[in-house]
Amino acid sequence: MYCPQCRSEYRSGFTHCAECNVALVDQLEPENAGALNDAELVVVRTYSDETEASLAKTALEASSIECMIRSDDYGGLTPLSLTRGVDLLVRSEDFEKADEILSSDVLPEDADVPDAN
Ligand SMILES: [Zn+2]
Repeated sequence: MYCPQCRSEYRSGFTHCAECNVALVDQLEPENAGALNDAELVVVRTYSDETEASLAKTALEASSIECMIRSDDYGGLTPLSLTRGVDLLVRSEDFEKADEILSSDVLPEDADVPDAN
């Protein structure tokens, strides 16, 4: 049994983590599943539309930087055009690297690929 919060391992028979007071689970989720929700996230860029944000997200993920998109459309209740934009969030420890990647040419068509010959 494992605590989903602090990831402590408990012997069978325990149902709640004494530290966190949450129900134990048989198996922990994979390390990165949902982990971003708990991590300290910072906005590395704000985009005007979700397409741009998705491209940036893809670029970061290609560099093994976990990131997530947060738009302020309240789940679609408000048209995106009325919001201030789409935030691209990364872990604070990844901020510098992410900023560096996003500052360089991240879009495939802009990629400066050295001539292989
Ligand atoms: Zn715990």
